[in-house]
Amino acid sequence: MSVQILLAKIRTPWLHRVAHSMARGTAVRTNFEKELEKFYSLLDQVVATGDPAWLDSILIEWSGSLTLTELKEGKNNVSLLLNKMIEVTNEVARETLTDSDALDLITVLIPIYSHLLEKAARLELESHINFISNELVIVQQKLENLDRTKSNFVSVAAHELKTPLTLIEGYTSMMGDMKGSVDQPDFDAFLVGMNKGVKRLHEIINDMIDISVLDNNQLSLNLQQTTVLHILNMLKSELDSSIRERNQSLKLKKFSGIDTWIYADPERIYQALRNILVNAIKYTPDKGKIGIGGRVLPGFVEVTVADTGIGIAPEHQGVIFEKFAQFGHVDLHSSGKIKFKGGGPGLGLPITRGIIEAHGGTVWVESEGFDEDKCPGSIFHILIPIHTEANDPNLEKLFPQDAGIKEEIHGQKNP
Ligand code: ADP
Repeated sequence: MSVQILLAKIRTPWLHRVAHSMARGTAVRTNFEKELEKFYSLLDQVVATGDPAWLDSILIEWSGSLTLTELKEGKNNVSLLLNKMIEVTNEVARETLTDSDALDLITVLIPIYSHLLEKAARLELESHINFISNELVIVQQKLENLDRTKSNFVSVAAHELKTPLTLIEGYTSMMGDMKGSVDQPDFDAFLVGMNKGVKRLHEIINDMIDISVLDNNQLSLNLQQTTVLHILNMLKSELDSSIRERNQSLKLKKFSGIDTWIYADPERIYQALRNILVNAIKYTPDKGKIGIGGRVLPGFVEVTVADTGIGIAPEHQGVIFEKFAQFGHVDLHSSGKIKFKGGGPGLGLPITRGIIEAHGGTVWVESEGFDEDKCPGSIFHILIPIHTEANDPNLEKLFPQDAGIKEEIHGQKNP
């Protein structure tokens, strides 16, 4: 009997067994069976022509479609599949054909499979080399980023910490010079000045601690029932004096969802929104307008903070959420928490993003562009998920690695 007829005889059990042993799940198996049928037809061509190159194209296709995970784990590779095919061919030939037909078929197929195994090994090696080269490029980019962040950190930290320190030093030396003769009003003014410097130092250091906590995925959220209204009202009263100082107006619109109960860490959400509002004050000229609005969306409360400030260039709209990103004049930095364009260490927005994302939300900005004269303004959008139950299963999904948070949610004591 011709080898092609023998091949046709074992086709159906071969396809069935290879598909079942290699693919789990019906949908995956259906696709896989189609691929196997394609392979089998090409195998038939190889047997007919004696040229194994007929199967090269499908091998190249299979090796090229390996996923990153498969490449990383060395799983489901083409050699593994070919070995399985050889095993199944032997089994099915012995079960379906006479001994001598089985031997004839296997004798023809073994050199074909050997060729395929060699070719697959070469292709997989190439894929691995490509994969490793890509990984190397990624690692190199990460290292370059890290290096940039590190040097940004050193220059920003040095500058930011120096300004309040100089302030404190100035007042201390004035107090030293006037020792014994300093009167009460002067003394009080010195104390106020020193306190301002100390407070600013605290703020910068706290921001640095927060960013390192977020970088290490160690933010622990104290989740409880709250409303956006409650948080925004507190924020508004804290920032009212700064708004007055800058002659600006701050309007809080009552929007749908503002008084919906959400399950979140109110202090952290306060901090996240505060950073955005303080920026709105800082990057909006005197007499400018700031508006807080929002709406309810399926599963989320959206808060928007719009200002009539200097705006943000499109190319910077993603970067401002990265650590140490600042585009203002360095000489205005740390010159006051709410001074016009008085940039800080560039940690406010990354902290905001970290907090909001830790809650399962997201934050982004819209702005027509940066223009200090025309002031096109910016609108920040903050999506806060509405979790209403302490044991909301979504929270499990949100914080899979954070056992501390899960324990807090389920009312167990956090060690
Ligand atoms: P910073 O401490 O410098 O304010 P942030 O992380 O809070 O750091 O903000 C990063 C940068 O994003 C700012 O330096 C500023 O250039 C820009 N930015 C943030 N908010 C606004 C805004 N409302 N209008 C214009 N620019 C803004």
